[in-house]
Amino acid sequence: MTSRARNVAIFGSTGSIGRSTLEVIQASGGRLRAVALSANARLDVLLDQARLVHPRWIVATDAEAAAGFPGSDLPKGTELLVGHEGLHKVVADPEVDVVVAAIVGSAGLASTWSAIEAGKTVALANKETLVMAGPLVMRLAQQRGAAIVPVDSEHGAVFQALQAGRREDVKRIVLTASGGPFRRHTREQLKNVTVQEALAHPTWSMGPKITVDSATMMNKALEIVEARWLFGLEVDQIEVVIHPQSVVHSLVEFQDGSVLAQLGPPDMKLPIQYALTYPERWDGPAARLDWSRPWELEFEPPDRGHFPALDLGYEVARAGGSAGAALNAANEAAVALFLNGGLRYDQIVPACRAVLQSHSFDPDPTLGRLLELDAWARTEVNRWAQVC
Ligand code: NAD
Ligand code: MG
Repeated sequence: MTSRARNVAIFGSTGSIGRSTLEVIQASGGRLRAVALSANARLDVLLDQARLVHPRWIVATDAEAAAGFPGSDLPKGTELLVGHEGLHKVVADPEVDVVVAAIVGSAGLASTWSAIEAGKTVALANKETLVMAGPLVMRLAQQRGAAIVPVDSEHGAVFQALQAGRREDVKRIVLTASGGPFRRHTREQLKNVTVQEALAHPTWSMGPKITVDSATMMNKALEIVEARWLFGLEVDQIEVVIHPQSVVHSLVEFQDGSVLAQLGPPDMKLPIQYALTYPERWDGPAARLDWSRPWELEFEPPDRGHFPALDLGYEVARAGGSAGAALNAANEAAVALFLNGGLRYDQIVPACRAVLQSHSFDPDPTLGRLLELDAWARTEVNRWAQVC
């Protein structure tokens, strides 16, 4: 690490990951500095954040929301940029060292792509980028010498545990999953799951889309695909285990049978901080494990019949090509419909399966083709919801 502060751009600063990132930066004693913040709609929150940290730029990505934004309220020295072009301008600036990619969904792909193209270190929360375009993104990172450091807690754990051995000695990785709030629900109960119930995660506090994904286990499906491309693993090397306490964030098994895990309370500030300070470790604001009381950690294999999303994750990771973009967009559209009352909870995964099966598979798509497919899959889900 250099002795000057590391300059951090937080894309999606008003979200759950974005807010935790700001807490980490504020607790860093000046070693990290937020130089850019972005939000789509909650510009009041963005403005409060700007007043707190005095960034060089704030980016209002939604031009319509930005139209009513009182620029005069900005702190001195902060410039307002509008639209996704603003994100591209920020990543191109030599002052920016690290980009925290914390926009939710496929909307985060373009700015993450630009950050990698600019050779920046990317602290990647936006797993959808790798699900949609993993091979293209990893190739670009290699060409541009850009480091992608995972923020997703499971991948952060694997990233840390991998440092205990040689890459060629890895037997497999085991991604942990809490199992969400409906692990023991019957089929009948799943039909009646309400939005409020789906948004009440037992261990993690996160944005709405990923909270629903965690309940359906689509989040784990996306994480299987993310792990495949990020770590260059074969699909058979990726296992999933249910671990309801969310303390063991994932594990790596080496050829000799040794299994290394990374533990911590379910608090995203820890993986976020590690992604920003790697390879150093600093004291920080993340919660600590309490070893002064008795406690238990449980593990069980997932019931693949109860969580059909997992099969989709494995299928997509195996297929590669355009499959990830189709699944990701179908899921985003299905979750949005569910949150708006347009789809039952137990229809989210079947809608994704239907769209994945009907998409015309391209084994080696361009980025442009993936974006077209993203739009197509969203329309298909809406059509599916109307006829089913
Ligand atoms: P969130 O919904 O809380 O926040 C999303 C952020 O993205 C907000 O700042 C919002 O303004 C911005 N945004 C939304 N739509 C946008 C658009 N069209 N264009 C530009 N900006 C837009 O989401 P979150 O829970 O913080 O998740 C962010 C990302 O991190 C997701 O990809 C998620 O999978 C990943 N992630 C989150 C967690 C978590 O604990 N929340 C854990 C692991 C990974
Ligand atoms: Mg995760």
